[in-house]
Amino acid sequence: MSSMEEIVVTRREVSRREEVSFDDLGFGDFFSDHMLICEWEDRRWGTPKIIPRQPLAVDPAALGLHYGQSVFEGLKAYHGTRDGKIRLFRPERNAARLASSCERLCIPVIEASAFRQCVTGLVAAEVEWVPRARGEALYIRPMIFANEGHLAVRPATRYTFVIVAAPVGQYFARYNRALRLKAESTFTRAVPGGTGAAKTAGNYGATLRPMLDAGSAGFDQILWLDAHDHAFAEEAGQMNIFFRLRDEVVTPDLSGTILPGVTRESVLTMLEDWGIATSVRRISIAELAKASQDGTLLEIFGAGTAAVVVPIQSITFRDTVIQGRPGGSALLSERLCENLLAIQHGEAADPRGWTQLVETG
Ligand SMILES: *Cc1c(COP(=O)(O)O)cnc(C)c1O
Repeated sequence: MSSMEEIVVTRREVSRREEVSFDDLGFGDFFSDHMLICEWEDRRWGTPKIIPRQPLAVDPAALGLHYGQSVFEGLKAYHGTRDGKIRLFRPERNAARLASSCERLCIPVIEASAFRQCVTGLVAAEVEWVPRARGEALYIRPMIFANEGHLAVRPATRYTFVIVAAPVGQYFARYNRALRLKAESTFTRAVPGGTGAAKTAGNYGATLRPMLDAGSAGFDQILWLDAHDHAFAEEAGQMNIFFRLRDEVVTPDLSGTILPGVTRESVLTMLEDWGIATSVRRISIAELAKASQDGTLLEIFGAGTAAVVVPIQSITFRDTVIQGRPGGSALLSERLCENLLAIQHGEAADPRGWTQLVETG
C-alpha cells in the first residue's frame, strides 16, 4: 500500500450515532459507523476502503484464526477541549510497533505513511464519533490477520487489514478507585524468545484463564512475573507498570517479554523532563515487599493508552501484600495522568510535538 493511493470512501446513509449512550460509554460497548479495510493479495496491499461497519469475509480455514498469525494496535483520537480540533497521540510510535509486530509474525508490513493515511482517513470520516468529554476518546483498533484458507503451518499469502473505531471512556473509569493486583505465581504471559514484545493475538488468549481466577479471588488485574523464576515484575495486565521508590521511579526494562508501550515511553520522558530520576531495570517482588515494609515504596501505577495512568493500591504475591504508602503529597500518577490528558486534549503545551492534528475538512 503506497501512501499515494487514495482511500475509497462509501458512507452509511444513516448514522447509528443516535443509538449510542455517550454519557456511559464503557470501553468497547459501542463502535462507530465505518471501518477501513484493505487486502494483501498477489504480494501487494490493495486500495484501502472505508465502508459501513459490517462482518468480514473470513475463510473458515484462515491461518490467522487457526494458528494466530495476527497482530493489532491501539491508539486514540482526542477532542480538543478548547479548540474542538481532533488530535492523535504519537501515531508514528504505533506504526513502528505494528511494523515490528508484523516482522515477528511474518506478516507483510504496512508502511508508516500508509498507516497514518488509513488512521487519519478513518478518524476524519468519524469526527462525529469522537466523544467530547475529557478523558474520553475515539479508540482506534487497527488489526491484520492471515486470511488464506490452508492447513500448513506457514506464513499466509493473503491478509486482511482492518481498522475499527469505538467511542470509549477510560478503561478503568467504572472502578473509580486504585486497583488490586494479583502477582501471578503459576501462569506466565511471555517467555524469553517468545512474542511478549509483539502485540499479537496469541499473547492474550492465554491470559484469560488466570485473569478469571484472579477475578474470582477479588483482584482487578494480574501482575505478570518473569517466566523463569516468577520473581520479577513485568506487566500489569495490558499496562506497563511503574514503582515510585523514594525519589526514583522504576519500571522493568524491555527484555523481549514486555510490550513496549507508547504510554510507558511517554511517562519516562515526562518524568525526565520534570527532573525526576527514572530507572529502567529488573525489579523483584522481594525488593518491592521490603520497600513496602520499610515505607520507601511510595506509589505503584500502571500506564497504557486504554487506561492512561492508573494508581495501583496493592499487589498480592501468595501471602505477601505489597502497598504504596497511603496518603502523602500529591500523587505522581495523578500528575502524569493529568499532564497526558492535557496534552492529548490540546490544553497544555506539547513541547515534544507528540500530538498530530487530523484534518477534518
Ligand atoms: C498495548 C499494551 C500495553 C500498552 O501499550 P500502549 O502503547 O501504552 O497503549 C501494555 N502491555 C500490553 C500487554 C499491551 O498489549
